[in-house]
Amino acid sequence: MLAPCPTAVDTDPDEVFLAEVRGFLAEALTPDLREAGRRTLGVHSDIAAAKLWHQRLHRRGWIAPGWPAAEGGAGWTPRQRFLFDRECALNDAPVLFAGGIRSLGPLIIEMGTPMQKARYLPAILSGEDLWAQGFSEPGAGSDLAQVATKAERVGERYIVNGSKIWTTGAHLSNRMFALVRTATEDKPQKGLTFLLIDMATPGLTVSPIITLDGEHELNAVFFDQVSVPVANRIGEEGQGWAVAKRLMLLARSNNTPAALVRRVYQRARTAALASDDLEPGLMSRLVAAEIELTAFEQAELNLLPGGRLRDGDNTSSSLLKLIGSELHQRVAELAMEITGTARGVALEPFRDETGRLADGARATAKHFATRAASIYSGSSETQRNVIAGVLLPRG
Ligand SMILES: Cc1cc2nc3c(=O)[nH]c(=O)nc-3n(C[C@H](O)[C@H](O)[C@H](O)COP(=O)(O)OP(=O)(O)OC[C@H]3O[C@@H](n4cnc5c(N)ncnc54)[C@H](O)[C@@H]3O)c2cc1C
Repeated sequence: MLAPCPTAVDTDPDEVFLAEVRGFLAEALTPDLREAGRRTLGVHSDIAAAKLWHQRLHRRGWIAPGWPAAEGGAGWTPRQRFLFDRECALNDAPVLFAGGIRSLGPLIIEMGTPMQKARYLPAILSGEDLWAQGFSEPGAGSDLAQVATKAERVGERYIVNGSKIWTTGAHLSNRMFALVRTATEDKPQKGLTFLLIDMATPGLTVSPIITLDGEHELNAVFFDQVSVPVANRIGEEGQGWAVAKRLMLLARSNNTPAALVRRVYQRARTAALASDDLEPGLMSRLVAAEIELTAFEQAELNLLPGGRLRDGDNTSSSLLKLIGSELHQRVAELAMEITGTARGVALEPFRDETGRLADGARATAKHFATRAASIYSGSSETQRNVIAGVLLPRG
């Protein structure tokens, strides 16, 4: 008897890959995790769900799709990474708290010492270490070269004094990577150094910043004689600017992945199709958003590090950050108009007894939360400056 002919689904590599991913998600993404994914407002889901999802992906070997396979990555092509992210989004997987996976881990792979790789990479992969980013200070945001937190070398240690602000998840993290000042004589960029700091070090304190939406995601971090081993420095003393720029490039290239926007778009679309009194014009804006999103997905495929066109340069990562964050905002606004309670900014009346927001109010809260997307990881103006600096002729 002849063997049955393979179908297109059996042989299309994308479909074979997606079948494996869907099989895993069907089992690993339990209803509570999907619910946490749906309820995500800020840059990560509820931390317990995000950690559980991290562990499940780690056990499966899929926690670091962008890392080289030799360092614990999934060994996927850029297209497979893209398909995986999109499938997770369409299935409401929790959004990870994953600065370690997305930016610091790849930086350590590129620039870390063998000891730093051995010490930090496994704990990033397992989720045991969560990393906060300590760059911004009250006087140093867009103009990051103004960082003033001081690190003075005493033998084989740096003694750190000063403060950081807007530190996302510092209260959830056990480690922080930070830009500190080790010299003041030369131009500001030359006196910076990049350190890895244990958050449990005596003298380090975290103070919450509660934002207008009532959420606690941000913090101020204070350093009072915090002692950090010199072995925790990435790059040489005084080369922190170049290290931080590389970190930012890695962070911006996946700061607002298309999958994050697709989550919001998908919910807006479902609500629009279910509605029998949709305001005129909203459906055509939805279609326009789908076109923009599809174009962004293609740009991401081409521009991501390891992608088809470029190997993750500054212009590519700033373009992805700029387009992604502004599209995220537009789609979240549209979702609010379709499903939201856009009749006022007060969200409290829409919370149930457990503090959870009702569906429509969640779309409104999401709209507010995405306002910050064009500020964090470098504002839209900063990204435009970077792009213009590379693309426009100097004269
Ligand atoms: C939700 C959120 C999370 C954050 N998380 C972190 C974190 O985890 N770690 C961390 O280190 N930081 C974090 N930040 C800080 C963030 O990186 C800074 O807020 C951002 O870089 C802007 O700096 P700033 O707030 O000091 O504003 P400023 O630099 O004072 O800018 C104010 C305004 O002026 C514009 N501007 C400034 N300079 C120029 C210029 N040269 N050309 C044109 N326009 C300009 C800016 O675009 C902005 O609109 C976070 C911020 C937010 C909102």
